Amino acid sequence: MDLSVSFHGAVARTTGSAHLIRAGNKRILLDCGLIQGIPHHYNQNFSFDPKSIDDIVLSHAHLDHSGRIPLMFKQGFEGNIYCTAATKDLVKVLLLDAVKISRIKMKKTRIGGRRVSLDPLYVEKDVYNALKHFITVPYHQVKNIDRKISLKFIDAGHILGSAQVILDCDGTIITFTGDLGQNGMPLIRNPDPIKKTHYLITESTYGNRIHPPMGKAAQELIQYAKHIYDEGGKLIVPSFAIGRTQTLIYFLNETFEKEEIDKMPVYIDSPMAIDATEIYIKHPECFDKETLKLLKSGDNPLMFPELSFSKTHRDSRSILKGWETCVVFAGSGMCTGGRVLSHLINELPTRKSIVLLVGFQAKGTLGRELYEGAKSVKIYNKEIKIRAKVKSIGGFSAHADRRELIDHIAKIRKKPAKTFVVHGEAQQSLTFAANIRNTLRIWARVPEYKKEYRLKPL
Ligand SMILES: [Zn+2]
Repeated sequence: MDLSVSFHGAVARTTGSAHLIRAGNKRILLDCGLIQGIPHHYNQNFSFDPKSIDDIVLSHAHLDHSGRIPLMFKQGFEGNIYCTAATKDLVKVLLLDAVKISRIKMKKTRIGGRRVSLDPLYVEKDVYNALKHFITVPYHQVKNIDRKISLKFIDAGHILGSAQVILDCDGTIITFTGDLGQNGMPLIRNPDPIKKTHYLITESTYGNRIHPPMGKAAQELIQYAKHIYDEGGKLIVPSFAIGRTQTLIYFLNETFEKEEIDKMPVYIDSPMAIDATEIYIKHPECFDKETLKLLKSGDNPLMFPELSFSKTHRDSRSILKGWETCVVFAGSGMCTGGRVLSHLINELPTRKSIVLLVGFQAKGTLGRELYEGAKSVKIYNKEIKIRAKVKSIGGFSAHADRRELIDHIAKIRKKPAKTFVVHGEAQQSLTFAANIRNTLRIWARVPEYKKEYRLKPL
């Protein structure tokens, strides 16, 4: 079978994941992600013809992997999208949110210095239309997508439903790691090892970094919760809705149960995080052994008496007005919008409160200003003085670090003939590719954007 791969996104960057496999006369797209950090309207044009693609295989729900799927249908794609059941549920929430983001971003578009208002990339009806074409495949089940081509998902341990994709093209195996999680994350399983592959496409988000241990990060979270319990004030955690919020909730519940700290109210004040948490609860097939054991004993780590879901604006306002000591998780994770802004307006000037940053804060965001120790910030055009403590914790990352990524490849019994390094900033990817070559003595490269690499059938 004639085989090749070309890379149409997430090359020397982390967004816009899209890798095209040509197998005989079939064209299969691995992921179809939104390119972030560039003018939004650039996402309109694909570097391939959407009509020429037969099927899409989706590794996980995050928008930088799934965000252009509805656009594919708008531009003539008629195939199926294969993913796990949990991914399908999370994708629905994320794509509907993407519609809102797209509306705002396309309205603010500037072309040649002039402000123009463009139509959003897609609207709700396009999302619902795309969802009709999703076919869910459980982990470890072989699914034939053509007479000679099959796919299998194994766990990627990154977020609920995340998968590594194993494509068997007439005996030649191509594996795509998707985004690979770090070991020891609560709730979900560790990444499954790859047993055998002829070709590998690996992510490299942290290809040049070692994370602090997750256990230490959890301890720090508990210390801050304890601090506000003793001193008063609120613990405001700007948090990513999917994955991060659930991880932190798990750790808080665990400490409450072990009675390491006194119990206090915990709020999830983010509609998207609430939806995501409900989807987590609906998919125990994705949980690790520890979580399943808890569930079996009647203890759900994502539902405990102190935890409240703040769904409506009214719920949110009552937390804002209240004086009680509590922990509040609110989006967005980088403080670029969402309900967290009202909490920041209230709590940043309050000496007793703590604002806790638990994820990466990109340049140009309010979260980054806080991270860099600003004395005051502007929110909704109001100058807000910062008297609260602003703290940050590393170590909760949903991505494997350099050591784990190398281990993952080292464990493959027969080494892949070619390893393509994607999904990382240029420096991370290049250093990681060199690291693979030096430590494992195998062919590893950061591919060129759009270049077609022939894969010898093996
Ligand atoms: Zn991801």
